[in-house]
Amino acid sequence: MTLPSLTPPTYQDVVAAAERLSGVAHRTPVKRSAHMDERLGAKLFFKCENLQRTGAFKFRGAYNALAQFSDEQRKGGVLTFSAGNHAQAIALSARLLDMPALVVMPEDAAHSKMAASREYGAQVVTYNRHTEDREAISQQLARERGMTLVPPFDHAHVIAGQGTAALELLQEVPDLDYLFVCLGGGGLLSGSLLAAQALAPRCKVIGVEPETANDAQQSLRAGHIVRIALPQTIADGAQAQALGELTFPIIRDHAEDIITVSDQQLIEALRFFAERMKLVVEPTGALAFAGVQAFSGEDDGAKLLQGERVGIIISGGNVDLARYSRFLAD
Ligand SMILES: *Cc1c(COP(=O)(O)O)cnc(C)c1O
Repeated sequence: MTLPSLTPPTYQDVVAAAERLSGVAHRTPVKRSAHMDERLGAKLFFKCENLQRTGAFKFRGAYNALAQFSDEQRKGGVLTFSAGNHAQAIALSARLLDMPALVVMPEDAAHSKMAASREYGAQVVTYNRHTEDREAISQQLARERGMTLVPPFDHAHVIAGQGTAALELLQEVPDLDYLFVCLGGGGLLSGSLLAAQALAPRCKVIGVEPETANDAQQSLRAGHIVRIALPQTIADGAQAQALGELTFPIIRDHAEDIITVSDQQLIEALRFFAERMKLVVEPTGALAFAGVQAFSGEDDGAKLLQGERVGIIISGGNVDLARYSRFLAD
């Protein structure tokens, strides 16, 4: 039997996820910028998942997955390995659904990240990144404690949940010409592609990743999943080293292209969000917009998005304040 979590998700799964999330996740606002519209000669629509519960879209996928646990799975609870937004999303979802949660994190993870997961009621187990394998530890703990592992992106219910952000955006702004979406492991992008395929088949969906973490771009070119070494980038939510077995085929078949941006371009995007839109955005959350700026060719006066209607997903806003202030000040 194939596990439901390993069956490729469909648009119907995204619609079902939206029903599960209704009244639980925020329907986040879509914001505009007259200033940036004028600069690029385009109409931009920013879907603000930095204003989602736990500060990132990850709540959508986590809750959608946990809401489908069987009674027995609920009793055992959920386990995940992640230092970032997925951990907080799992922790809050587990609390809302009244089940135990355990997060496996490297012992040198930022204190604020461990604290955030604990605040939502999860137990945190640490490991040594240099000597221990997190997947082996997670699998062992899951077996010992009867917990169900929910990974951050390669899971059908997670992907379907992530797709609800684009679903909402396309319901609100149906006639987009382009949709720009960031990617790490590709859960958000593949979910967005399912929504766009059904609601706006002519909309070109473009994935954006850090230039040092361009494994998805390489994978598209190669026609198979390319794994890279742990990349250096300030976009710490996009450091996945490879796409997943479920996310890759959806991206290969439906994405228009994958483009990349530099850390410097991300910093400039963070400043734009803070100064002009009054939005706190984490570096990974700014990837899609930085991609729009790079794609538009505004620096060369090309204005390739002239007259186009462009959707942008701001994926998250969780950033350590000291680090954030350094980005703004540099
Ligand atoms: C996880 C995350 C991403 C990448 O999402 P994938 O589904 O792994 O592609 C992007 N931005 C933020 C803020 C994230 O937390």
